[in-house]
This record gives sequence, C-alpha cells and structure tokens, in this order.
Amino acid sequence: MEIFSVLKDIVDRPGVTGFEDQRRERVVEYFSKFCDTVSVDVIGNVIGTLGSGERSVMLAGHYDQIGFMVKYVDEKGFAYFSPVGGWDPRVIYGARVKIWTGNDPDSYVVGTIGARPAHLVEREERTKAVKFEELHVDFGAKSREEAEGWGVRPGCVMTIDSPVSRLGKAQGDSDLAVGAGFDDACAVASFIKALEVLAEDPPEKLKLYMVATVQEEIGLRGAQVSGFNIAPWCAIASDVTHAVAPGVKPSRVGDVKLGEGPAIAVGANFTRALWELMEEVAKREGIPYQIEPVPAGSGTDAWALQVLRGGTITGLISVPNRYMHSPNEVISLRDLENVARLIAATVRELEKSDLRHTREVFRRR
Ligand SMILES: [Zn+2]
Repeated sequence: MEIFSVLKDIVDRPGVTGFEDQRRERVVEYFSKFCDTVSVDVIGNVIGTLGSGERSVMLAGHYDQIGFMVKYVDEKGFAYFSPVGGWDPRVIYGARVKIWTGNDPDSYVVGTIGARPAHLVEREERTKAVKFEELHVDFGAKSREEAEGWGVRPGCVMTIDSPVSRLGKAQGDSDLAVGAGFDDACAVASFIKALEVLAEDPPEKLKLYMVATVQEEIGLRGAQVSGFNIAPWCAIASDVTHAVAPGVKPSRVGDVKLGEGPAIAVGANFTRALWELMEEVAKREGIPYQIEPVPAGSGTDAWALQVLRGGTITGLISVPNRYMHSPNEVISLRDLENVARLIAATVRELEKSDLRHTREVFRRR
C-alpha cells in the first residue's frame, strides 16, 4: 500500500476529539485487512490483534485531531466557538472551516472564520493577537432559524478545511506532505504499513495489539481505557514531535529534523532497556533514526501507559512534524515508512526479549 494514499484517506476525514467516527470507520477497514481480530471499545479505540503468544505488546497512536466546537449561533446566523485541544488563535484567523452536521462525509457546511479587512484594523490593533472569543464563523446562513435548518447548532464540531497534499511542485512527488490533523493520524498510517509487513509472518511468541486511540488531545483518555483492558507487557506509543524549523530552535526541541527518520524518545517516561533495544534494531536494520530528549512528561499516550496498573515497559517513536497544531502541518512520507519499519522490526525483536517488569534481586536463604 502506498503510504501517501493511506495517509490522505484517513486524515482528510474529520476526527475531532470525541467525534472520531468517520476516521474510525476507515481505520477499522484497514486493520481488518491484516489483523486476526478488530474491535472497538466503549470509548471508540480501535484495537487490532495479530499473533498468538502469551505476552502482549501494545502500540498506541491517536487518531483524534484538534478542532473546534460551536457554542452559540446568533440571530444573524453567525457561529461562535471554542477550541477542542490546544490551538493558537493566530493560526486560524481567516481560515476556511467545515462545520460537521452529521456523520456522513457529505454532512458539513462550509464556513470561514471571518477576518476583518486590513483597511479597517487600526495600526496598533494589528500588533495584538486575536482571541477566540472575538472570532466568529460566517457560513452563509441569514438567521439562527436557517442555521438550524442546515443542522448547525451548539455542539457541532468544526475542522479546518485543508486537504492533504504534497508540498512543493504541482503534480510533483515531494517526500513532504502538508495538511491539517497529521497529529496523530499519520502514526496510524504507519501502523497500517507495519501490519502489512507483520501479517506476512504473524508473531508466535507474543500477541500484538495495534491500537488507534481516541481523546488523546484532551488528556490521553483513550490510551488509559485501552491500556487498562489490554494490560500490556510492553507498550509503545507513536505520536508526532516538533521538528526544527525557522523559529523553532534545536536548543528548545532537540535536533529532530524532518526526513531524517523516526525519533526514539529518551527520558523518565520510557524504559531504558526498550529505547536501547529500538536503537540497536534501527542500527542493525539500517533504519535511520534520531534521538529525542524528553526531560519530563512526553504529553503522549506513553505518559498514561507507563503508569497504568502496576506499570508497563514503555517506549515512544515519534514522527517529526513542522507547524504542529496549525492548519498546515508538514511531515515526511519517508519518515512514516521508517516508523512502520522500526515498529515491525521492534516487534520481531521483542519476541526474543526477556525484558521483565519485576526481577527478584535478593532472597534470604
Ligand atoms: Zn496534538
């Protein structure tokens, strides 16, 4: 399968936290091609299993995306909204949006986050950032009644209308892709590629749980639920991480670069023996990789999974991402392929591993 088409197929569907249904449908279809079983739990996590061993390895990548929720529609038919997840209002001022009125791909209303013409903004005002409460969506309705007739009402979620495409020359084959909501459905595209490889020779000494999680963006909630139910021996999260870009210095985010391979995270949120194992595997298999220093919490599903129940062997593989949480994030397709390769090779290596949660270090005779 071509990773760009899988990526586009998933990411171009809406998956605002708590409203992941349209993406879920596609993830289930893809997982069903390669897994032994696929289930959806009460909160909406998609869990695909492969293999028959006793020990369980869980991969977690979230497929919810940040978005917005309509809070109020005024009598003139303009909508006011709040962010779902972490947004900087400056990046959405003047953006085109889709207001979702139902669960079908066609159930939306096109709107724009109305920007005031520059001519009408005082010079001093232009130096100040806009606030969410000052923003409105114009979606063409003339009244609240008309908006209601179209299905737009408080509680509808909105996404930025910015379909996935390749960066660079028109009709070119750039390695870089641009779009809204790569965080973190792009990791799920890597999972699908990894499953394709692993399904050719399913693991016998362990059972793989490939989990596309929900509600990461508002507090890692899908990982908590699925992790508790699976109780994995080892859990690896995959998410996006900041890549250096103009204004984003390596001294702040680590020297993670686009196109130079998956980032293996190092720090208290992870198990040293596991990140060392992943490094060894990457070196042996010739998979390019980078090290991401994470001094405290990673803010990813790995944070929840590590301390679930009695604690879990935990790791994090990240996809370098520029302009995270903006209408146009940029990632490298080669990085996605290499994340898939690293996941598949790590699962094979874990089959041979004797890593333990608890080792007896003393016994009185
Ligand atoms: Zn995010």
